[in-house]
Amino acid sequence: MTMAQDFDLVIIGGGIIGAWALHQAVERYPHWKILLIDRYRVGDGATSHSAGVLLATGKSERERRLAGQSARFYKALRDQFSIRTTQAPVYWLADEVFLPDIRRAVVDFDVQPAEVSEAVLGARLGSRLNVGPTECLLSGGLAESYEPPLMARMLISRSLASANVSCIEGLGVRHIGRTGNGVRLTLADGANVHARRTLVATGPWTNESPFKAIASEHGLRVKKVVALHIDGLAAPDAPALFLPQSDAYLMPLPARNQWLFSFRCDEWDVRPRKHELEINNHDVQIAKATLGQYLPDLVGLCRGGRVFCDSYSPDGEPLVTLDHSFNVVFAGAGSGAGFRLAPGIANEALELIVSACPDRRATPEPLPACVDGSK
Ligand SMILES: Cc1cc2nc3c(=O)[nH]c(=O)nc-3n(C[C@H](O)[C@H](O)[C@H](O)COP(=O)(O)OP(=O)(O)OC[C@H]3O[C@@H](n4cnc5c(N)ncnc54)[C@H](O)[C@@H]3O)c2cc1C
Repeated sequence: MTMAQDFDLVIIGGGIIGAWALHQAVERYPHWKILLIDRYRVGDGATSHSAGVLLATGKSERERRLAGQSARFYKALRDQFSIRTTQAPVYWLADEVFLPDIRRAVVDFDVQPAEVSEAVLGARLGSRLNVGPTECLLSGGLAESYEPPLMARMLISRSLASANVSCIEGLGVRHIGRTGNGVRLTLADGANVHARRTLVATGPWTNESPFKAIASEHGLRVKKVVALHIDGLAAPDAPALFLPQSDAYLMPLPARNQWLFSFRCDEWDVRPRKHELEINNHDVQIAKATLGQYLPDLVGLCRGGRVFCDSYSPDGEPLVTLDHSFNVVFAGAGSGAGFRLAPGIANEALELIVSACPDRRATPEPLPACVDGSK
């Protein structure tokens, strides 16, 4: 490929958001010449560490819309390619005052008082289960876990079946400059690429050159994200337990003979460098404090886990925005939920890209009816 080439769309970043954006762009604008660039290997950023747990909930109306749409996109892909996932019926444990928040947050399902005793549910979760005097147990929803790097690579490799799509890995975008009809991107090897439309989906690297100004303008920060692994066989129909007050959940991973315990880590402004980020004693103590309160028998079974970081917006919602100074659309700030919201984020980004730079050659292919939410 000669590096002076022109592209209808260049996507910078092959994480789950860039991958879904590529997939949707190829489906909707099959005639576009598209380039995906990643400074490392596609699917190797925050996406490669993600627990890949998906449950359609949202704090705001926009987040609920993104969650519902994303769930439909994932389901359509899962059914089309017979992708194997773990599915777990969800129980919720929270103080009664949180019930209205939980009911408001759920999308496409209801939550009801759980018709199960603490002892029976505890046995299915592998521990005694403690429910406080003002707390209640609810049931509703199905949590599903995917392998995020495999999903990203699958979406990208399928898109590469089109002769109009190409991908560069192992070369980062170092510089970006406006041109009369788009932007000129300079890669780490000095080559230049011209893009009529550009999507920046650089995850936690957005806080670094050359896109630092986008992160500063929108107050994006990078936070460590940790989930512990818990030894123990989970039955194929094992449930998940969500603890919204503690911002934590327990998800069975029967294929790995493990459970996953996700909880909130408050270590901010870390760098997205794999070998700098480790699970430390403080992380383990936070996790064990919550487990000790609700599922005490799991405390001694924690062993290792997964750790990296993610880009967070000030309000904890993903960001999709047109950056006028760079003349690019940015999509990211997954804020710890970027996997489950990625297809919706990508769809919003693509719509913004096309409204900023319309395609006068053709009308786009419509979204498939199964994902556009119209039925
Ligand atoms: C431990 C952990 C568990 C998580 N669990 C969940 C979960 O269960 N459910 C959920 O929904 N979310 C979860 N998340 C969050 C989710 O993984 C992220 O929100 C999501 O992966 C972010 O995707 P992204 O595409 O924005 O970024 P990334 O996956 O980081 O992709 C960005 C890409 O951009 C590339 N890049 C960066 N700079 C440049 C440049 N200058 N030029 C070219 N390429 C560049 C990088 O190499 C990278 O591949 C978890 C995250 C972690 C760390």
